[in-house]
Amino acid sequence: MSKFLSSRHAGLNEYVPGEQPSDMQYIKLNTNESPYPPSPGVLSALSEAEISKLNLYPNPDGTRLIEKLAETYGVGPENVVIGNGSDELLAFAFMAFCDPVGVCFPNITYGFYPVYAQLFGVSYRQIPLAEDFTVRVEDYIGVNRHVILANPNAPTGIALTLADIRRIAESNPDNVVLIDEAYVDFGAESAIALVREHENLLVMHTYSKARSMAGARLAYAIAQKTLIEDLNKMKYSFNPYNVNRLTQLAGHAALCDAEYYTANCRNIIRTREYTEQKLQDLGFELTDSKANFVFAKKPGFSGRELYLALKQKGILVRQFNDGRISDYLRISIGTREQMDACITAIESIVGDDGNRPEY
Ligand code: PMP
Repeated sequence: MSKFLSSRHAGLNEYVPGEQPSDMQYIKLNTNESPYPPSPGVLSALSEAEISKLNLYPNPDGTRLIEKLAETYGVGPENVVIGNGSDELLAFAFMAFCDPVGVCFPNITYGFYPVYAQLFGVSYRQIPLAEDFTVRVEDYIGVNRHVILANPNAPTGIALTLADIRRIAESNPDNVVLIDEAYVDFGAESAIALVREHENLLVMHTYSKARSMAGARLAYAIAQKTLIEDLNKMKYSFNPYNVNRLTQLAGHAALCDAEYYTANCRNIIRTREYTEQKLQDLGFELTDSKANFVFAKKPGFSGRELYLALKQKGILVRQFNDGRISDYLRISIGTREQMDACITAIESIVGDDGNRPEY
């Protein structure tokens, strides 16, 4: 830390992204990326002619992309804002809404929420999940703070129903209810359908998972016009050119190739079910994940030892040194071949009858 760092930030615990080691070739199942490349339309949209225009700023309004997003979701362009990944849109939401009322979210959820709360000096309450890792909806009814819920939640993968979200939004009319739907395409229902009825509902989607564009950094939020205006006020006060030219083009092209992505999601769901069955056969306990990852633990083994043993075998998964979930592994769903390699490695660690082998 230099002597110049603001004292406000001295105690900030920054977010730690999933590791990207380069010491060997890993099967990378630790950051919930898609195993599939972007669609053919995206690849051809990024032509040399477009690359040669990088001397010019992008359209700050993202007009063409926003119009296509609006058409895709049956809303107006005034209901959509785009960002440099959901992380940036989340930052805009923290800047715009959370001070001085404060915010609440589950104590086990996406690790960026408490980081932003600290960064932006927002008071936050972390509400414990139930014993089985579900969100207790009652805890969010009339909570008198803004609410952020990842749905499906991360890293548990467990989803709320639209009826639950409607109740939470209805009971907090003076607070923003932000639903982070990063993983919604793998088996949950989107709350975009509720935006028309609820002026306090803000729904966020990313291109990083189902749309195979984690490297392009693109996300969007959908809400009633006034909430979008507030987020745009943040955007134009922070980084008006937040989505670069190539990403805007790629994002538009991806929407034109919807069938490709729907088929990929179907494959990922199928592979998730296959992986769950294999892990259950090996004695793992799993949550009911509706995301592109599973969340699993093997009684008798610590999460850390499994994570390290898998890493040694060239398989990267995510493990959180965090109380109740430290014995769990979050394993992203890759291709069938990648998951077979992962299962084979797990078998060799826990014993193929599911018991610890003699060393
Ligand atoms: N929300 C959740 C729940 C996530 O898990 C992640 C990323 N892992 C994000 C948001 C951030 O996504 P993006 O790549 O769009 O910044």
